[in-house]
Amino acid sequence: MQDNRCQICGGTLALDEGSNTVICEYCGNKFNLPEKKTKQ
Ligand SMILES: [Zn+2]
Repeated sequence: MQDNRCQICGGTLALDEGSNTVICEYCGNKFNLPEKKTKQ
């Protein structure tokens, strides 16, 4: 499991696979995630 935390409030971010953005459910801030390299 990934351990991504909000840089603003420190809350745990629930990531959606296939999405490059995530919204913190605690403070509502939106983050852009670094692009994942897909296995080839
Ligand atoms: Zn937050």
